[in-house]
Order: sequence, then C-alpha cells, then structure tokens
Amino acid sequence: RCSTAAALEELIFPPVQISYTQNLIDGKFVDAASGKTFPTYDPRTGEVIARVAEGDAEDINRAVAAARKAFDEGPWPKMSPYERSRILLRFADLVEKHSEELAALETWNNGKPHEQAAKSELPLLIRLFHYYAGWADKIHGLTVPADGPHHVQTLHEPIGVAGQIIPWNFPLIMFAWKVGPALACGNTIVLKTAEQTPLTALYVAKLFHEAGLPPGVLNVVSGYGPTAGAALAGHMDVDKVAFTGSTDTGKIVLELAAKSNLKPVTLELGGKSPFIVCEDADIDKAVELAHFALFFNQGQCCCAGSRTFVHERVYDEFLEKAKARALKRVVGDPFKKGVEQGPQIDSEQFEKVLRYIRSGIESNATLECGGDRLGTRGYFIQPTVFSNVTDDMLIAKDEIFGPVQSILKFKDLDEVIRRANATRYGLAAGVFTQNMDTANTLTRALRTGTVWVNCFDVFDAAIPFGGYKMSGIGREKGIYSLHNYLQVKAVVTPLKNPAW
Ligand code: NAD
Repeated sequence: RCSTAAALEELIFPPVQISYTQNLIDGKFVDAASGKTFPTYDPRTGEVIARVAEGDAEDINRAVAAARKAFDEGPWPKMSPYERSRILLRFADLVEKHSEELAALETWNNGKPHEQAAKSELPLLIRLFHYYAGWADKIHGLTVPADGPHHVQTLHEPIGVAGQIIPWNFPLIMFAWKVGPALACGNTIVLKTAEQTPLTALYVAKLFHEAGLPPGVLNVVSGYGPTAGAALAGHMDVDKVAFTGSTDTGKIVLELAAKSNLKPVTLELGGKSPFIVCEDADIDKAVELAHFALFFNQGQCCCAGSRTFVHERVYDEFLEKAKARALKRVVGDPFKKGVEQGPQIDSEQFEKVLRYIRSGIESNATLECGGDRLGTRGYFIQPTVFSNVTDDMLIAKDEIFGPVQSILKFKDLDEVIRRANATRYGLAAGVFTQNMDTANTLTRALRTGTVWVNCFDVFDAAIPFGGYKMSGIGREKGIYSLHNYLQVKAVVTPLKNPAW
C-alpha cells in the first residue's frame, strides 16, 4: 500500500456556507435565462453540495451586453487609473478579510488541501491584485520620433470586452491571472468559470462589487464549455478572449474566435514538463523537489514535472528515494491538517488517471508503488511511481493530470535536451544541478516558457507564465499580461513649424 492515508471515512464538515450560486450579471445575482441549474460536487465524496445557475448562450448574451454598456458608457475605462487602482486594492483587502471562508470553499469544491488554499493560493491572489493595482496608473504610450514634420504618439487603450474562460484546477488563482490585468487596463469582463468549480469566483466577484466596482464591469457566468464557453469565444461583441485549459479545447476557442470577429486570443494550455536531475545534483533535495513538481495539487497542474529525467549514475539512488517519498505522502481529507493530497476533481478525471496507470502497466513500465484508487468513495488515488519509462509510452507522452510520476533514465546532456524537447508541449521545465554551465546550457536549450533551476512552481505575480509550441499563445502575469489587454493607437499630427 502506497500511502499513510488519513481515515477517509470521517470527513470534516467544511466551516463555510454556500451563499452565491446565481450568475452575476450587471452587478446583480440572477437565475439562468432558461431557469436551469446544474450540480456541483464535493470531490471527497462525489456528493452534490449545491445547484448552480446553468448559463448558456442567452446568459452570455446578457452578460456581454452588460459588459459592452459598462465599457462604452463608462465610467470604468475612463475612470482615473488611480481610482481603478484603489478599487483593486480595496478588493484585495476584502479577500484578505474573507480568506478563511474562501479557502474553505475552494477546498470543498475542488478537493485541494486546505492549508495549500489558505496559506499559498489566497496570499498569491491578494499579492497579484496588489501587483496589478500598482500597474493601473503606470500604463502609458510613447512619443515616437518618426520621419517627416509630424508629432507622433501612441495611446495604450483598453481593448474592450474581454471574454475569459478558466479551468477547475486553481479556480481562484486563474480568476486572478485573468481578471487582475484586464481590470487594471480598464477593460470590462465576462468570465466563464469551469463547470466543476463555480463557487469561489462568484464569491470574490461579489467582493469586487463591495469594493466599488461599477455594475457590468465584471460579469461571472457558470455553465458548460460547449454551451456557455463556446458562446463567449464566438461572440461578435467580445473584443478579446483568454482561455486556460486543455490543448484540444484551446484549438476550438481559437477557431471560434477566428470564425466570429477575429478577436485576439491568449491560450494557456497543457504540458508534459521535463524535470531533469543531473549527475551532480544533491539527490535528497532533487527527490523532494521532483516529488513536489509532480504531486502538487493532486498532479493537476498544467506545468507538472511529469517526465522526471534522471542521470544514469544517480538513477538507482534517486528511484529508491523517490519511491520512499511517494510512500510517505499523506493522502486524505483535504481539510485535515498535514494532508498533502486530496481527491482528484471529478469522476471523469479520476477514471482518466486510472486508465493512464493501467496503460503504464500494460506498456511494461515498472510500477514502483501506488497504482490504484484509495478508499471506496470520492476520487482519491494512491501516489503512483513508474520507473523504466521510455519516451514512446503514453504515460511519457500525454498529459495525465494526476498523481503519477514517470521516471526516465538518461546518459548525457545532448541526449536529455533532445528527449526533453521531443514533445508537442513547451510549458515549463525543471533543472536540478549545482553546475552553472550545465544550468546555462539547459536553460537555453529547453524550448519551454519557464525553466525553474533548482526550484519549481515559483508563481510570483511579476513572473510571466505561458507556453511554447502547443502549450499556448501569449504570457500571463507580470508586465507581459498587460499587452494582452491593451490596444495601441498611433496618433499623428502635423507640426506647424517643423523647425521646432
Ligand atoms: P477543458 O479545456 O475542456 O476545460 C477548461 C475550460 O474550458 C472550462 O471552463 C470548460 O467549461 C471550457 N470549455 C470546454 N469546452 C469548451 C468549448 N467548446 N468552448 C469554450 N470553452 C470550453 O478541460 P477539462 O475537460 O476540464 O479537462 C481536460 C484536460 O484538460 C485535463 O485532463 C487536463 O489534461 C487539461 N487541463 C489543463 C488545465 C491547464 O491549466 N492547462 C486545466 C484544466 C484541465
């Protein structure tokens, strides 16, 4: 047995109530136009915890109309940037005040460890809004020394109505990455949450209105992808769409944008990130970091270090320690202190991960530990480690999005560079070495949007994040995210007296 699972039978009752389940359109909570609702679940048990308004194309139309009006008639885009900044700061303060309820709600609806939600994700969200509040009054254009007798300047203007579609693995963090920069730049928003995790975005959107955000600036619609999500991506009155989720859905979003009004698209998609342990690495530290890189958030991270490449000279020692670490991983009720791993998000993801585990076994990778569900209810999976994984196996090629570590052996740097890059993805990579030349070679050779050296999953608000290749288009966070939400207007005026 692969885990010291805390008893899964006696679950802690979450210390929070569900207050908001309707769509938030034009500053008001409203039922879906169709009157329909859909269930949302507790992944610890698979039981329904609430029914939520099920938005579809009509609700998206209404939300877009509200966002359009709030953009065209203002005051939001024309408000002084300092005032916008202050609303972002007041919002961050309100989130801080309500952190306990929010962390509990996030864990209840998503299954992630409560300590992770409370101590890491909420502080990151707050920090991100502080960061973008800081940008709001520092966005400006240039004076351009063009040829000819003209005064030329650029105005950096908000792009308009932003459609934002987010996934379920980090509901609050994804809300922050999308909403923070868009609002700082003066845009208005229609946000479609993931159908698995609609609750916390509604809660924080309510806080935004308490902070003084005018109605219609931020609209939140719950609902399914092919109905609400597709209506948003294909809407003629949406000026930009930002999406995070699977590569397959990203392609659909891009197509919908192209077929409607050619709105610009940013995509943050899947990954199969290499984590490279060099022969000179401190093995104990490398084991711990590789474990974290893969198992964090139940393995449900787009940038998970899901191909652990280990140099042949340290492979045996690494493998033994990686297995021992996985066996020690504490799986259980995510509300319990000390629990490192909760359930997967839903039955679909749970079944998918178990299918990949079976595929690993059938393709003759060595199952070192784990390999099955844990307990008899909910979506818990044993931390699983495979060794002797080869590049052609499905578990080495596909995004599993679960607690399954695949360990691969390599001989030299050229080989590992070639193999690490031999994937359709290019989101992130981890490099573990004490040698600066090795680190420099790898960081330049790896075709990924992030390379973490001797660290992993460092998600500061100022650090850009995004993918090469089929892991996405564009960057989120940092100064780079502002470019996604701004138009550049060139303004040219003749100079009456060119001599001056
Ligand atoms: P998904 O890409 O289908 O869902 C992400 C978001 O897109 C959700 O809000 C969903 O409602 C919406 N969506 C779905 N179909 C849509 C459509 N036709 N038009 C517009 N929006 C649509 O992801 P999923 O089905 O929840 O998970 C499937 C796989 O995606 C996972 O196993 C994992 O590999 C990957 N994934 C990646 C991330 C990431 O952060 N990159 C996040 C979640 C899932």
